[in-house]
Amino acid sequence: MNDFVLNPNKPPIIIGSGITGATISMMKPEFSLYDKARYPGGRVSTKQLQENGIRFDIGATMFRDQMEIDWLGKVTQYNLFEIWNTNGVKIETKSIYDKNHHFPIEGMESIVKGMLKDKSSHQSHTLKSLKKKDNHSWECIFYSNANKQFVSVDTSQVIFTLPIPQILELFTNSEATIEFKRWKDFLETYNDYRKTLVCLFSWDHWKPDLNSLGLNLENQIPITTSLQRGEDWEYQSWEHIKYQNDSSKGANLLVQFSSLFSETHFEYWMDQEKKPTPFYQEMLTTGVKEKWDTPSPDGIFLHRWKYAQAQMPLLGREGALKLDSEEFSEWKTLCKETGIMVLGDWMFGSKIERIIGGVHFLIHNGIL
Ligand SMILES: Cc1cc2nc3c(=O)[nH]c(=O)nc-3n(C[C@H](O)[C@H](O)[C@H](O)COP(=O)(O)OP(=O)(O)OC[C@H]3O[C@@H](n4cnc5c(N)ncnc54)[C@H](O)[C@@H]3O)c2cc1C
Repeated sequence: MNDFVLNPNKPPIIIGSGITGATISMMKPEFSLYDKARYPGGRVSTKQLQENGIRFDIGATMFRDQMEIDWLGKVTQYNLFEIWNTNGVKIETKSIYDKNHHFPIEGMESIVKGMLKDKSSHQSHTLKSLKKKDNHSWECIFYSNANKQFVSVDTSQVIFTLPIPQILELFTNSEATIEFKRWKDFLETYNDYRKTLVCLFSWDHWKPDLNSLGLNLENQIPITTSLQRGEDWEYQSWEHIKYQNDSSKGANLLVQFSSLFSETHFEYWMDQEKKPTPFYQEMLTTGVKEKWDTPSPDGIFLHRWKYAQAQMPLLGREGALKLDSEEFSEWKTLCKETGIMVLGDWMFGSKIERIIGGVHFLIHNGIL
């Protein structure tokens, strides 16, 4: 098979403006960026409720500043703040949990916005199918939700950053080619994601006594979150402390549910208006009252992530990204020979620092 020859007149395009797409864009601003959603961010998404100004993160809630890469038998450490500094990106953060975990004071989504800076991404553009034109280019067919029309873009390389099931669906909706078949065979091993259900409880005029809940606010780095692996109500974060709002007399608590709970309740979690059905209203209200001795919440906001976190990343889930592997060599060959590159948390692991550090490394070493 002939290699795809990158044509400088048709620069690569990035599909997806989540943290992966934003990192590529930060370092390669000449690449165009497309996303089906109205705003960039993907699974790094901050919600601000209009009625009361409450801010909370519905996807990722914090990041580490350090990550490591193991390549050619040598482990090198990278620091996110240094990567941002080098690229002229400023994000004001605070520590949370311990001195290596942080969150941006404007919400997690501001990481993506900060990395995109003044670059405009083509939002509300859903990639519907791909067509191979020759060994130099792909035709990408988007549907623009804003203009209600199809838009066709030619490129020498398509860089996918979507969860694998969404990529495979796109291949299925496109005319079959050997390139899709090769990627499909390769990606199937890593196509394993957990689901996550998320709920935000809000109280207009009540605040918890956090010390009595075992959370420590006197520390220099306040502990306002807790993780109980294996329990249904797995991760809890008192978001009103993270994102303080002086005019608010209330509190809000974000809960992420376990993989098992999320799998069981996923289909029925909310009605068409994304509101809890009477069954879940009762279950959640009873649960929050029992666990934290709260009054009935004044508001319940629900969200569900079908492909929340990749479970079998190619470069490992914890520790240094392992690049001295046959799988990584195979990935590079596929990228070179097909004019398609597939990146994302299925490759680096579902951690912001692994993705940013990993993409930075690939670009810095001329692999991307
Ligand atoms: C509930 C939850 C909690 C998490 N907590 C943490 C945490 O605390 N710390 C941490 O480091 N990580 C956390 N993660 C993991 C982290 O959020 C993800 O690993 C990371 O955001 C993945 O980014 P991505 O850019 O690879 O993919 P995504 O963010 O999924 O981006 C893909 C983008 O592609 C777009 N797209 C999809 N289909 C199309 C199409 N056909 N055409 C055009 N665009 C399309 C989507 O709209 C999306 O914006 C969490 C994730 C979840 C869901």
